[in-house]
Amino acid sequence: MRVTANRVRALSALACAMLAAVVLPSGCTHVHSAPRLKCMAHLYAIAGAMRMYQDDWGGYPPPYDPLSGRGGVSALYANADLADTEVLRCPEDPTTLAGYNRLHGTHWNPATFDKCYSSYNEEYNYWGYDARGEPLRSRREAAKTYAGRRGWQGRLLWTTGAPGAATAAFPGLVNPKAPDGTVITHCPWHRPRFRGTQPQDPTAFLGTDIMAIPVTSYDWITQPPPPGASSSGPRPP
Ligand SMILES: [Zn+2]
Repeated sequence: MRVTANRVRALSALACAMLAAVVLPSGCTHVHSAPRLKCMAHLYAIAGAMRMYQDDWGGYPPPYDPLSGRGGVSALYANADLADTEVLRCPEDPTTLAGYNRLHGTHWNPATFDKCYSSYNEEYNYWGYDARGEPLRSRREAAKTYAGRRGWQGRLLWTTGAPGAATAAFPGLVNPKAPDGTVITHCPWHRPRFRGTQPQDPTAFLGTDIMAIPVTSYDWITQPPPPGASSSGPRPP
């Protein structure tokens, strides 16, 4: 079944209402920064859109391609599972069109950047899965998938100035039966604000849970949220 605009709008409204219920227990709103709350709302919309994408295509978007802008979280907007490009961007993400073009050697224009760039693509399922549905555990394994030896499940970018040094891996969430506890993506743009405390990233799961998860104690691929993980977000420093 293809997605209609009404369906997208209905989901967006539902997402806002449900997110408020999930992350805003009464009396706890003071622990959230506005940008982080907005980011978590974006992640909630993305998780819902992932479910629609899965319903339509029987799987999840392929790895993001930073040159073409196809794949990854960006595919949700391209396939009309997301109604608004604003959802693709974390409010704390300072990436500009010029910065993106410089980093990737692209010549995108503002319209392409608006449609295709997402703050959440680099963390999309982190390392991803291999062709057998086994989680990848390192950049080396992600590189193997890019080389085609284990299927087309990950992309790896290399710096131009430091040959052999990977700057970013773009894995794919290719296991169509991935459990609800599988991480879709997590947002690292708020992390510097929590330096000196236990750093946590807002995280979206396939089951549409949105939680702040400690970055040092979590497997970003398949595990369900660890005991004690709070859906009400982190405490400020
Ligand atoms: Zn964010």
